[in-house]
Amino acid sequence: MNEIVHNHYIDAGRIAARVREEAVSRVKEDIPLLEVAEFIENRIKELGAKPAFPANISVNEIASHYTPEDNTPCFKRGDVVKIDIGAHIEGFIADTATSIEVGTQDHRRLIHACEEALENAISSVKDNTQTRTIGGIIETTIKKHGFNPVRDLTGHSLEQYKLHAGITIPNYRSIFSQKIRKDMVFAIEPFATYGKGNIKYGKPHIYAINERSNTKANLRLRELFGPLPFTPRWAPGIRIEDLTGLREYLEIIEIGSEIVAQSEHTMIVNENGCEVIT
Ligand code: MN
Ligand code: MN
Repeated sequence: MNEIVHNHYIDAGRIAARVREEAVSRVKEDIPLLEVAEFIENRIKELGAKPAFPANISVNEIASHYTPEDNTPCFKRGDVVKIDIGAHIEGFIADTATSIEVGTQDHRRLIHACEEALENAISSVKDNTQTRTIGGIIETTIKKHGFNPVRDLTGHSLEQYKLHAGITIPNYRSIFSQKIRKDMVFAIEPFATYGKGNIKYGKPHIYAINERSNTKANLRLRELFGPLPFTPRWAPGIRIEDLTGLREYLEIIEIGSEIVAQSEHTMIVNENGCEVIT
């Protein structure tokens, strides 16, 4: 990998990891989710990167793709909170997530299962590893603890300004498999749940512009975020209805409304292993 690109990844990763940890200490009972989301997005900029997507703060049965739009939702005691953040420098993205419990310790094992699945998965990553092997390790680890992986959510390769660059890392031993290669950049993200691990969709809170179109609103948003996801919070004065070629990221919810935990790191694959940047 080119040294400049490598340095951008390292810097983006360092910033994302630092902001993740700082955000965790701000998750407390009765604090609005918006306060933590805005902290994350502002802090990423303050440290010299840009948010690669709106801070995802998904609670309990919501696995991902929730970002608050106003001050209304607040953390409650016993919530299982997934903080999922992305920072990029010149489009080179670091994507990372962690789970915390608000004021209780009832879901430690579920959260631990995700963390251990991620660690075990990372140990298997090197040039030529099959994605289904990594998925198998994640599935086995989560099931060993008595939980289920969320099968419809996956890790993914990353490329400049591309959050999902074509290769997926399943959270179970899938039949389909791809070979990962040296110098590829991946986010691996196990999700574990008390439920069956299937999903249903909720409302959209996060969007991206898929196509180039010359309407004023589209041009303005492409200029601001390129092809990366955004929240209406970031685009005051722009109406979602005026945009064309819009991609909606719907909330992803566990099908039986069971609690979900998540853990995620970004890594660069090398000959004998990988370099975790977050
Ligand atoms: Mn993520
Ligand atoms: Mn990801």
